[in-house]
Amino acid sequence: MSQAKELQDLDLRHIWHPFTQAGVSPAPIPIRQAKGAILIAEDGREFVDMISSWWVTLHGHAHPAIVKAVAEQAARLEQVIFAGFTHAPAVELARRLSSLLPGDLNRVFFSDDGSTAVEAALKLAHQYWRNIGAPERRRYLSFEGGYHGDTVGAMSVGTKSGLFDHWRDLMFEVTTLPFPATWEGDGDAAEKEADCLHVLDGFLAEMGAETAAFIIEPLVQGAGGMRMCRPQFLQAVAERLKRAGVLLIFDEVMTGFGRTGETFACLKAGVTPDLICLSKGLTGGFLPMSATVCSDAVHDVFLGGTLDKAFAHGHSFTANPLGCAAALASLDLLLQDETGARVKAIEAVHRQRLFSMPAHPKLARHRIMGTIAAVDVECPDAGYAAAIGPKLREFFMALGFVIRPLGNVVYLLPPYCVEEAQLHQAYDAIERAAVEVIQ
Ligand SMILES: *Cc1c(COP(=O)(O)O)cnc(C)c1O
Repeated sequence: MSQAKELQDLDLRHIWHPFTQAGVSPAPIPIRQAKGAILIAEDGREFVDMISSWWVTLHGHAHPAIVKAVAEQAARLEQVIFAGFTHAPAVELARRLSSLLPGDLNRVFFSDDGSTAVEAALKLAHQYWRNIGAPERRRYLSFEGGYHGDTVGAMSVGTKSGLFDHWRDLMFEVTTLPFPATWEGDGDAAEKEADCLHVLDGFLAEMGAETAAFIIEPLVQGAGGMRMCRPQFLQAVAERLKRAGVLLIFDEVMTGFGRTGETFACLKAGVTPDLICLSKGLTGGFLPMSATVCSDAVHDVFLGGTLDKAFAHGHSFTANPLGCAAALASLDLLLQDETGARVKAIEAVHRQRLFSMPAHPKLARHRIMGTIAAVDVECPDAGYAAAIGPKLREFFMALGFVIRPLGNVVYLLPPYCVEEAQLHQAYDAIERAAVEVIQ
């Protein structure tokens, strides 16, 4: 039996894969190695990773600078308890994140993945108001279509994503407000935004004083289907929250580290939140790690003479030195001029190809935000479970591309090392799919 087949058989016997119905899904493809934007399978096939391996890879797989940083750190200090101890990679990473983020977002709480970064932000916001003496502020706001992770708190604020119906009874109550999904050339953008702001105004007038925080994926709702909004909308929301005294949490787990064309979406939007959640691209996609960065003003409310006011929360691997070392090496790469040029070049190809795709009766809402491009396939079962999704995925895999539609939404979110030729070939594949699969 071939190595690939043997791995597949053992995998099917012992492993439970995420978001996968093993009863109908094709067997998982064993990957032997990866380099740059290419995944190499055990059987020798190659795939171009056009979704950055679930949005985490920034500079390419196995980037030598990050490999070296992780290896050197592993030989020096692989892990240490982070209560009562600290280490240079964590200190340096926190300092650099603070300097890159706007305003006084200077206090970094490390955890392990996007969900736990969100969970920390939600708990921080809750305790913030208790510490201040306003425990009645306990409501949370989120946008329809928002996705913030899979832990119970993160599910609660993402409840309208439609992904969590099985666990409805576990969640706390959250108010979800309409989101003005807009795109370039959307003639109704201003009207949609005004409608959403009107609903927000109504809510804040009635419930603002009971509300702890609003959690938002700025500029792009990722898992909800790459739904985008304009900076001026986020500015209008932030202004209203400030007036109502509601904390603003930006979930930049996906949008952070250059995806939207700026280092962070908050910079592109011109909005400084009170808390920001970072993960996915933080370590360049090498290690699971996240950060919840808070303003000094939020942090200082947790100071006092007793443990009671402290944030009594944390994880075994908080600020893992290997993750911090990977993140520092990834930030070095991110801030190089060459990376900025690559990010611009990706957006330029998106603009050239997405907006000049042959007109197709079922393709709509072509949209771009920096390195992210998306288009909807109109279908009766639109949404995460749309039947067209797996069909398209298989079609793209057969052509050598990892392009994994979110239901009926086809999108590209490549690592920054992607070659322009690879990107053009991905668009060729999408145009072929429009003719051969979507029809
Ligand atoms: C992926 C994602 C999360 C959850 O991150 P995990 O690492 O999967 O726990 C949270 N928020 C956003 C916006 C995400 O895209």
